[in-house]
Amino acid sequence: MPTEYDAVVVGSGPNGLAAAITLARAGCSVLVCEANAAIGGGARSANLTLPGFVHDVCSAVHPLAAASPFFKTLPLERFGLEWIQPEIPLAHPLDNGFAACLYKDLDFTAEQFGRDSSAYRRLMDPLARNWEDLAVEFLRPMLHLPRHPITLARFGIPAICPATLLAKFLFRDEPARALFAGIAAHSFLPLEAPVSSAFALVLSLAGHVVGWPIPRGGSQQISNALADYFRELGGKIDVNHRIQTLNDLPKSRAILLDVSVWEFLRIAGDQMPPRYRRRLESFRHAPGIFKIDYALSSSIPWRAEVCHRAGTIHLGGGIDEITTSEREVAREKIPERPFVLVAQQSLFDETRAPRGQHTLWAYCHVPFNCGSDMSDQIESQIERFAPGFRNCIVARHKASATDLGRSNPSLTGGDISGGAVNLMQLIARPILSSNPYRTPLPGVYLCSASTPPGGGVHGMCGYHSARAAQRGIFAKH
Ligand SMILES: Cc1cc2nc3c(=O)[nH]c(=O)nc-3n(C[C@H](O)[C@H](O)[C@H](O)COP(=O)(O)OP(=O)(O)OC[C@H]3O[C@@H](n4cnc5c(N)ncnc54)[C@H](O)[C@@H]3O)c2cc1C
Repeated sequence: MPTEYDAVVVGSGPNGLAAAITLARAGCSVLVCEANAAIGGGARSANLTLPGFVHDVCSAVHPLAAASPFFKTLPLERFGLEWIQPEIPLAHPLDNGFAACLYKDLDFTAEQFGRDSSAYRRLMDPLARNWEDLAVEFLRPMLHLPRHPITLARFGIPAICPATLLAKFLFRDEPARALFAGIAAHSFLPLEAPVSSAFALVLSLAGHVVGWPIPRGGSQQISNALADYFRELGGKIDVNHRIQTLNDLPKSRAILLDVSVWEFLRIAGDQMPPRYRRRLESFRHAPGIFKIDYALSSSIPWRAEVCHRAGTIHLGGGIDEITTSEREVAREKIPERPFVLVAQQSLFDETRAPRGQHTLWAYCHVPFNCGSDMSDQIESQIERFAPGFRNCIVARHKASATDLGRSNPSLTGGDISGGAVNLMQLIARPILSSNPYRTPLPGVYLCSASTPPGGGVHGMCGYHSARAAQRGIFAKH
């Protein structure tokens, strides 16, 4: 059979589309095969509750997309992508009525912390000033010769620390400690684990440098803009096309898989050399999530005024409470008072809900593949900081960790990170190599969040994988 395409990409998530664009820009003919009826994987929107309410099915808030060195090179605005910056990226209310905030302005953020302000400045300021150099270092495989070793070391030393240890060592009061712990909890690691601080640092720095923006009209707009640009470059996308084995694909010089390690094992495990297969089989999942989307009759009655001006809200009280709930999840227990992440997009984007009404996106961490309904626990946490919240609920859409796994083969067990991001799997993702995208199967590359730099909508896994594939494709020409 003659070669039909230079490359076939399986999966149209942000990494699949990033890989497809990278190759199409290099002059390759590229086909994308997507299992779902809609493109976008973890960056999609849908009417999950009632007519007129637009919900983000997965990703909602996009510091990493805004910071992505690859996305910056794309003309996505020309294809309708418009970023909205909520006035405050993040607020973290506490029981005493105060809410610690991550403001875009670093000094303003530091000032709210009183006697912790100079510690906050000392930690963040030098890193924020070197953000561009830093981003190049950590948005790629860990095994590489650093171009900015001093900047990287300055980041690496605090980043490797457990978040509880670093926060309690640096800060004396609850607001700075709680804010840091909540952001570190994005790692899905117990906060006593090494590298949990890395997440707090990267996401806080991104907040100061590029903000935590949301796309007007919903996350689907990111995928639509990527897909439209890809089509303009001559690319083709087939939807409703789930790949069961690599033999299902048309003949091509390269295959790039925007699928998790576990889906890769399902599709091609029997063709892998045993050593490589065993390595993938030992790759560990992150915990799962329980997600809930609301249609609301009004905005949320937050007690702390700043919460009305923030795009994202972290609910979990102080550092000790967050540490306990994350530890419970890591031990496969259901937390009674889970740490809850909330996004209130419709406060800043009127396209998301009918006039005067609102959407709310929320999730909490749960054990891997947990089928439990966590809506009571989530609503209790919201009520705690916004009394009267339950009276605003018009409709709910719930998805347990098990449901999420069924909806997208890349979200097995509700793991939204493409595999745990512990120290080991940060370095060996999914294998220890300076080119972890290449697999032992000739011409087959992995390009999903199971490769470096990992989860989030940034397209960097797809970009690096495509660069590796490009070398293979042109060598064969
Ligand atoms: C609920 C939730 C909330 C999130 N919140 C955020 C957030 O606010 N900000 C952020 O930056 N990130 C967030 N994320 C993470 C982000 O969505 C993912 O890290 C990102 O989408 C990973 O991109 P990807 O391209 O690697 O994989 P995915 O986006 O998962 O895309 C994989 C695609 O491959 C397709 N596929 C899989 N197997 C096959 C097959 N056999 N044949 C054909 N197609 C296949 C899937 O249908 C899917 O479309 C969230 C994720 C979830 C689930």
